[in-house]
Amino acid sequence: MNVATILKAKGRAVATAAPQATLQEVSAQLAARKIGAIIVLGENDKVVGIISERDVIRAIAERGAKALEQQAQDVMTKNVISCSETSTIEDLMGTMTQGRFRHVPVVSNGALTGIISIGDVVKHHIAEVEMELGAMRGYLVAG
Ligand code: AMP
Repeated sequence: MNVATILKAKGRAVATAAPQATLQEVSAQLAARKIGAIIVLGENDKVVGIISERDVIRAIAERGAKALEQQAQDVMTKNVISCSETSTIEDLMGTMTQGRFRHVPVVSNGALTGIISIGDVVKHHIAEVEMELGAMRGYLVAG
């Protein structure tokens, strides 16, 4: 199973913010949408960063409530690791484990086309394993 298949099932909507958005605005969006990360888009809608709830917590731990006035561009992770539509679930598991993060934006021809969270990966991995198990049971019964 690859990213294109996952996106077909979950849709391609991605929560985004401008680099100048405040952490207050980013936090409000995270809470309202019940999500863990937001992609920061710069000029020409290019991915320039990612902010997850962990970054918000770190900023608050360092600066207290004042952190909420900071801009996304001051808090975001700038070196964003993305994947493509042809990346597999195994590729994503490796990327997330190695990078120790739970969100991977999907970029096709330079444009943001979706996002995969660790929840999506787990859900589809379980479905894949169950399918294989069902097929193996089928072979055993038939044999
Ligand atoms: P997360 O586990 O996704 O909440 O993120 C943990 C940390 O990794 C935060 O500092 C995020 O900004 C950063 N992060 C999340 N996703 C990515 C990604 N795809 N590429 C680079 N950094 C990321």
